[in-house]
Amino acid sequence: MRAAAVLLAAGRGERLGMDVPKGFVELAGRPLLSYAVEAVRGCHDIDSVAVAVPVGYEDRAFEIAGPRGVDVVLGGASRQASVENSLSIFLSDLSPLPEAVVVHDVARPLATSELFDRVLSALDGADGAIPAIPVVDTIKRVFEGVVTETLRRDSLIAVQTPQAFRTDVLERAHAAARREGITATDDAALLERIGARVVAVEGDTRNIKITKPEDLQLAALLGEAG
Ligand code: C5P
Repeated sequence: MRAAAVLLAAGRGERLGMDVPKGFVELAGRPLLSYAVEAVRGCHDIDSVAVAVPVGYEDRAFEIAGPRGVDVVLGGASRQASVENSLSIFLSDLSPLPEAVVVHDVARPLATSELFDRVLSALDGADGAIPAIPVVDTIKRVFEGVVTETLRRDSLIAVQTPQAFRTDVLERAHAAARREGITATDDAALLERIGARVVAVEGDTRNIKITKPEDLQLAALLGEAG
């Protein structure tokens, strides 16, 4: 199925404490964005890419990602706004629109082309497909430091990106969220709200998200081992 990719690199990454935004921080001598670009280039259904970046990083993003089939867009104030800006670029630049859009956080540099392929393949019979990892820790709800509930682990998953969606459903989900003033930390949550069918596929435990400085060290080790 023909697809476009949204690569989200517009976060400031303050918890990482670096002087460049997270997508441009280096892992083994290469910016995180270059890993995401390599993964989408290895996925043969994806022929267009939008990279969302902070203001001032447009040229650097083109150096890393482009220019073939790449649009660089300014990110928004939230992750969700950055996805919306990227979708608008597809609407104005791509005709016909691709059937699917894969949204990926550049903060996950170890996502493989196989994982992109896996979520896209799972769109047969679904509106969205997301990589999931079974939860191994016991998960509790807490209020002001006091435990109020223990959740049933067998029905819980931890979710990663890349996440694949049917383009029309993703647009509808974002439009509904915008109308209703809803924000979510991933796109799948917006589809769930409008009753769309989102399926979970096997994620990859190596596909960690870089949030804190020690995550970069861990990703370097995992990258070497892989
Ligand atoms: O901050 P966090 O790690 O949750 O961000 C997840 C992803 O969303 C990152 O790849 C980040 O660059 C991206 N993001 C964005 N625009 C924002 C905030 C985050 O593209 N305004």
